[in-house]
Amino acid sequence: MSASFRRTRIIFTLGPATESEAMLEKMIRAGTDIVRLNMAHAKHDWTRTVIRRIRAVSERVGREVAILMDIKGPEIRTGDVAAPIELKAGEIFDFTVKPGAGNGSGGEEIRSVDVNYQNLVNDIQVGDTVLVDNGLLRLEVLEKNDARIRCRVLIPGSLASRRHINLPGVKVNLPSFTDKDRADTTVGLEEGIDFVALSFVREAADIELLRAFLRERKSKVRIIAKIEDQSAIVHLDEIVRACDGLMVARGDLGIECPFEDLPVIQRRAVRTCLAQGRPVIVATHMLESMITQPVPTRAEITDVANAVYELADCVMLSGETTVGKYPVECVQMLDKISRRIESETDSATREPSVFTGDRMKVLHSAVVLANEIPFSKILTFTRHGFMAHGLAALRPVSAPILAVTPSVELLRQLRLLRAVEPYLMPFAAEPDATIENAIGLLRRAKRIAPGDKLIIASDILSQDRLVDSVQLRTVT
Ligand code: PEP
Repeated sequence: MSASFRRTRIIFTLGPATESEAMLEKMIRAGTDIVRLNMAHAKHDWTRTVIRRIRAVSERVGREVAILMDIKGPEIRTGDVAAPIELKAGEIFDFTVKPGAGNGSGGEEIRSVDVNYQNLVNDIQVGDTVLVDNGLLRLEVLEKNDARIRCRVLIPGSLASRRHINLPGVKVNLPSFTDKDRADTTVGLEEGIDFVALSFVREAADIELLRAFLRERKSKVRIIAKIEDQSAIVHLDEIVRACDGLMVARGDLGIECPFEDLPVIQRRAVRTCLAQGRPVIVATHMLESMITQPVPTRAEITDVANAVYELADCVMLSGETTVGKYPVECVQMLDKISRRIESETDSATREPSVFTGDRMKVLHSAVVLANEIPFSKILTFTRHGFMAHGLAALRPVSAPILAVTPSVELLRQLRLLRAVEPYLMPFAAEPDATIENAIGLLRRAKRIAPGDKLIIASDILSQDRLVDSVQLRTVT
């Protein structure tokens, strides 16, 4: 990681290619901010082991990364097949919710596979589309009864065991926060995760279920809502309001929605988050070709650049770092592209944030000052994250936000925020002493030097009362 400052945060997904101590160390040193655990593929023993390993390696490296547990949410899958079924174009094929219900009447043998969701036959309508295995197979529903749906194969291919099913535009009545999600989240809370990402969020109420679960357990874990289908797009505003951060999960979105809508949805989602002051992650297929190749395609470079131009908080790697051949190079590549594009963005690209309240106005004045003073840096102090979140949401043009906190848990959660560079330090009883201590810490870390202009957003003691303030100081 080069010395200059990167504003865009990097998330990578842990897997066989990156789970060893040695690889984790390389990934953290290369500039990782958050490690994602995809619970669709994780056992609990493995989960506990890797969380402890991430913590140990972070401590050794001297850089606390955050952990995001991505829980599976509602998912429809096909059952087991003895051998892959080769589906032919035009073939009639059944998805059965009652085993054995797929054989055709009148003597013809219609092939079939079981599905793990009984209500499929009620949710789906004749004419709907069934996509299997990330959209590789496409079928059209011809007829249904209470035991099966009968389809025609439109795009043929091979159907192996336990393949993921997408039903574009269909309102599926599966619970949003499943028993498996509860069990996974419980393990995560026991091991001290920082974020939980809920898959297939369809409306704000889905997030409230998870929020209530966390509240009952007195957990401060923050919720990332993954938007992956058409229902999430319809309810985007309320989802953004209800969550602590949004993930534009382009893998499933690109299957559930017309693919040409995907860039439109991404832009709208990022803008909605900017307007409401919520962090946003752009995820999936960012450097897909680097699963097997050491350099990305020109289109991938431009895709990453686009997320940075849009002012997203984070970019995320999935297959590139779970099974790819070049995981460290992928983080280095995101680092390099982000820095280059960040040097190009200017105030013209910023979205206005809609914020009210005196505290936000004070933070806004800090950002205005930072934007006017070349090479200035913002220094803030944050116990609960409010100051750092507010400043990040206002998207200062080029000043970094040096956020000092006494809490390691909060420090890790601040890794989600664009342009925030968190530092751990106990606070003194007097706010002014805390500021002096922080300036000393940042000088020793060579992050600031004499002559630097600091815009300090903090509370100060005035007649025994804490008041929010903005100060301009030159480092001596
Ligand atoms: C996605 O669909 O883009 C995504 C991030 O979710 P998952 O990897 O869980 O399918």
